[in-house]
Amino acid sequence: MSFNYVTEKLYFDNITQLIGNTPLLKLNSVVEKEIYAKLEYYNPTFSIKDRAAFYMLKKAIEENSLKEGDTIIAATSGNTGLGLCFSANFFKMNYICVTFDTVPKEKISLLKAFGANVVICDSKLDSNLEGGYLWVANKINEMIENSYLINQFTDLNNPYVHYTETGKEIWYQMDGEIDYFFSTIGTGGTITGIGKYLKEMNPNIKIIGVEPEGGIYRKVLKGENYEFKNHAVESISDNYISPNVDFNLIDEIISVSDNDSFNMCYETLRKEGLCVGTSSGCVLSGIKKYLTNKALTNKRIVTVLPDLGLKYIDTLYNSEFWKAKGFTQPEDYRIDLKIQENILEAFSKYEVRM
Ligand code: PMP
Repeated sequence: MSFNYVTEKLYFDNITQLIGNTPLLKLNSVVEKEIYAKLEYYNPTFSIKDRAAFYMLKKAIEENSLKEGDTIIAATSGNTGLGLCFSANFFKMNYICVTFDTVPKEKISLLKAFGANVVICDSKLDSNLEGGYLWVANKINEMIENSYLINQFTDLNNPYVHYTETGKEIWYQMDGEIDYFFSTIGTGGTITGIGKYLKEMNPNIKIIGVEPEGGIYRKVLKGENYEFKNHAVESISDNYISPNVDFNLIDEIISVSDNDSFNMCYETLRKEGLCVGTSSGCVLSGIKKYLTNKALTNKRIVTVLPDLGLKYIDTLYNSEFWKAKGFTQPEDYRIDLKIQENILEAFSKYEVRM
């Protein structure tokens, strides 16, 4: 490429312009069919939540609910917290992140590094009841002057930014050729916003939710009784029905095991070269499972991979965690056992290990 003919500027004016417009990559090996995956770890804090976090703050500023120097409070399990902290720094505001004790310590460390004040609550308590993290966030908001509570579960700007931006990006990147959209469900911002945009553009597009076994959304959609069970896939399908999930847009919800989701993260890393987080493993193994029952010949499948695998050093990349959970180990790509033995023997006096 020659730069002689470039008339538009080639740089961005500030980091917030790097939110959104993420690449859409065709995955060729991890599932038997081609899957078009939107790589949301290209956002500044490496997750899809930068979009909603920045937009919720921007709207609150425009509506005069927030100004420079104010304090933002939000209950979040991590990614929204990072996005909010990043945005709060940009708008010169303080940030208190209320979270819970099962959030991995590397996420907490990163939040603190970004400048967040982190309050950690007991995960065993119902999030909305006394002592739970949503309850605590509300109380802190009442205690502090010039504070503003961000509630991503009820804030309509959360799904709205996916309706106006993420959904539209996908539609144009695929040139409108979409038959299925698969998504995980946390607050519901992603599935509701993108689902609404895509269904408006073409009502025949199927919107399929994927959640870890133990999540409650699948049963809620079917109108069945449900009981929440903890799962190792993070940041989605908590013990709470988020008001931002519009069930009318969702055609079906399927569930997959933690074991499959974690193993899929390794397959995605090795076969596609993508380092994705556990919810990405969940949605991809959900697609794989769906395809075992329905061939979907000539159908175009799109999904969103919400965040970066490097955020999960303590779980996804920790063999002790795998052992404790009883997960099957991913297929070993390492060299032949005999070669390993030869290497160890050749360097035994140097105490070389493998
Ligand atoms: N995956 C990850 C890693 C997330 O942090 C979130 C946000 N909770 C989601 C998926 C789900 O996104 P949403 O809140 O838009 O439903």
